[in-house]
Amino acid sequence: MNPVNHRIVLLGPPASGKGTQADRLADCFLIPHVSTGALLRSECSRGTPLGQEADGWTSKGLLVPDELAVRIVTAWMKENGPRFIFDGFPRTVGQAEYLDSSLAELRAGLDLIVLLELPDELIRRRILERISCLKCGATFSMSLHGNQEGSPCPRCGALLVRRNDDTEAALDQRLEVYRDLTLPVVGYYEKTSPNLLHRIDAGEGSDEIFARLSALVVDQKDEG
Ligand code: ADP
Repeated sequence: MNPVNHRIVLLGPPASGKGTQADRLADCFLIPHVSTGALLRSECSRGTPLGQEADGWTSKGLLVPDELAVRIVTAWMKENGPRFIFDGFPRTVGQAEYLDSSLAELRAGLDLIVLLELPDELIRRRILERISCLKCGATFSMSLHGNQEGSPCPRCGALLVRRNDDTEAALDQRLEVYRDLTLPVVGYYEKTSPNLLHRIDAGEGSDEIFARLSALVVDQKDEG
C-alpha cells in the first residue's frame, strides 16, 4: 500500500468545504480532523474562560489572536500527537511559522498543503444558506438539504443553528480578514514548501474534490 500523508493542512476561504472534506479524509484515512473554529465554538458553547475570550473576536468575524489559536493547537497536539488534518489553522503567517517550528522540534514537517479556491460570489451564497451543528461540526445547506434552524442534526441529533458569524455583517469582515491575513499564508508556503502546495477548485462537486484530495494524500510522498 502507498504511504499516506498524515500531516495535512487545508487552506481556503470560509465555505470552501474544508470542514466537509477534512471529515471525509479523516474517516477514510483515519487521520484526526482538527478544526480550530470547531474547537473554539465548543469552548464558547461550554462557556469556558477561553471560549468567552474567543467569542468577542469570532462573533465579529475577526480572528482570535495568534497566541490564543496557538494555545488551543498546542494543547491538541500534546494530547493527540503530530498526526492531523488541520482545517482553519494556520490562518496567519505567524501561525504558519509556529507550526513549522513546533514540528521541527519533533523532527517532523508537513506532508501536504491544499488550497481550496472559491470565488466570493459562491462563498456568499453558501454561507448565507448554511446551517450548522455546533456539537458534531456537520454543516448543511438549507436549500439543498432542507434542514432548518432548530431541526435535529441528521448526524448526531443535536439542534441545528445558524453560526453567530454566518451573517451578512460578519461575512464581509471574514472575507477581508481572509484576503489580508490568510492569503499571505499561501505565499509563505509557496516560498517555503512549493512542492507540498496544491490548489483545487472548490466550486467542483464534493465527490470530485474528495477524489482529488485522496489522490494527493496517498501519492504525495511517492512523488517527492
Ligand atoms: P470558516 O472557515 O467557515 O470561517 P471556522 O470554523 O474555521 O470558519 O472559524 C470560525 C472563526 O473561528 C473564525 O472566523 C475565527 O474567528 C476563529 N478562528 C478559527 N481558527 C482560527 C485561527 N487559526 N486563528 C484565529 N482565529 C481562528
